Amino acid sequence: MNEKRFNLLIIGAGPGGYVSAIRASQLGLRVCVVEKAEVGGVCLNRGCIPTKAALKEAERINSLKEEFSDYVNLSVGELWKKVTSASREPVKYLRQGIENLFKLHNIELIRGEAYFENNKIFVKSQEKTSILQGDNIVIATGSRASIIKGIEPDHGRVITSDDVFFLEMPPQRIAIIGAGAVGVEFATLFSPFSQEVHLIEMLAHVLPFLDEEISVTVERELKKRKIFIHTGVKVEECRKEEMIKITLSNGKTLDVDCLLLAGGRRPNTEVLFRTPIELDENGKVKVDRSMRTNIAGVYAIGDCAGPMMLAHTASEEGIVAVETIAGHKREMDYSAIPLTVFSSPEVALVGLTESKAKKQGIPVRSSSILFRTLGRAQADKSIAGIMKLIVNEDGVIIGSQIVGRNATEMIHTIALAIRQRLNYKELQNFVCAHPTYSEVIREVAESMDNRAIHTKAR
Ligand SMILES: Cc1cc2nc3c(=O)[nH]c(=O)nc-3n(C[C@H](O)[C@H](O)[C@H](O)COP(=O)(O)OP(=O)(O)OC[C@H]3O[C@@H](n4cnc5c(N)ncnc54)[C@H](O)[C@@H]3O)c2cc1C
Repeated sequence: MNEKRFNLLIIGAGPGGYVSAIRASQLGLRVCVVEKAEVGGVCLNRGCIPTKAALKEAERINSLKEEFSDYVNLSVGELWKKVTSASREPVKYLRQGIENLFKLHNIELIRGEAYFENNKIFVKSQEKTSILQGDNIVIATGSRASIIKGIEPDHGRVITSDDVFFLEMPPQRIAIIGAGAVGVEFATLFSPFSQEVHLIEMLAHVLPFLDEEISVTVERELKKRKIFIHTGVKVEECRKEEMIKITLSNGKTLDVDCLLLAGGRRPNTEVLFRTPIELDENGKVKVDRSMRTNIAGVYAIGDCAGPMMLAHTASEEGIVAVETIAGHKREMDYSAIPLTVFSSPEVALVGLTESKAKKQGIPVRSSSILFRTLGRAQADKSIAGIMKLIVNEDGVIIGSQIVGRNATEMIHTIALAIRQRLNYKELQNFVCAHPTYSEVIREVAESMDNRAIHTKAR
């Protein structure tokens, strides 16, 4: 067996692994990445990028259908084909981009499935097993869809997010279990195509990590798109007959031809089964704030370890890990990491919600402004939306939630404000171009003191 040695070995080339590799190479380390599938991980190949490209196409089709219904003659199958091919278009280009960056930084990419034993990485490929040794190792193996016991995916009628873009036709009736970000995005995606889209959530509201009134705004908008919302209920029984028969805990039954499991993701830690690495109660690799595991020289990042399952968190954790390896003092700060949902309208959150702050005993104040007060929203006929700002008792900004067009871009202003520990009063003198959606940021800051120009505080 051939054996190679590197300064840094990385298992997984998702947004955690590939970003760590590039930063490590910039820091002068000799790096090898082992990847069993395509570079870019779930994010690029099956998650963030294909879903957004598909959502964009679905949105275009939806608005065409609404505005120019007489002119659109394409069948549902032809329109769906446009969506699935849109989901693939950016992937190929971006994948090639990562591989080019690896070459540019002299990062060795080895294809094959890795496992970790005795501080060595064994890589199984079709022809051989190679052994890799590293001064340090980063585990970046990501996650996969959680399966509900008794409801196994069959990749046709019972599916996970991995299967959606392989469907030949959109289902006429679909139920989605789980109304987190992934469930809500897929409900949005299917709504122009399917006759019935059912979103099932066991907690009281969709996107349950938001404050209640923000979740309710999202629910109202989803209902306008004819998405049926079933909250506070569990799936009691699911029988595959001619249709899939779903019985909910409130006694309701649904007959659908497809069931999408979007009830969460579980970490990929099989790679570590032969290593005494500590896992937490959720099965994730236990790490400190610099992403160190309990084994010296071994780090874990991204969906398999961190508290947030997001691509940009995985990348930042990777950078923190390799900068720590290079001798810098680096720790993760999760206080200003934005979470975005590309539904229609978009949703974004950063920092603490009011309900979470209250649960933690932090005294807070909050204020909200509706998008309909904005000139730009009126001009665009895109008035559904709200922005909420949350500050602590000293007026320091600690959180925000936005629903509405461009929410996923605007949230970054507040992320920066939280990182810089800005007081909301500093946003009261913040001049935004007119007419833009960002004008709501100043309005909401002013509404904290009941002095918003275009509206009374809510
Ligand atoms: C449908 C969907 C939509 C999403 N949308 C968003 C979004 O809009 N924004 C956002 O921030 N996040 C989104 N996410 C989450 C995001 O995709 C993940 O948080 C992110 O991909 C995690 O990155 P990672 O590097 O930790 O792992 P992954 O991207 O899962 O990459 C892990 C890599 O490791 C490889 N691997 C695993 N085990 C081994 C092994 N033993 N040997 C070799 N290689 C191995 C895998 O093949 C994979 O390529 C979405 C997820 C899904 C499912």
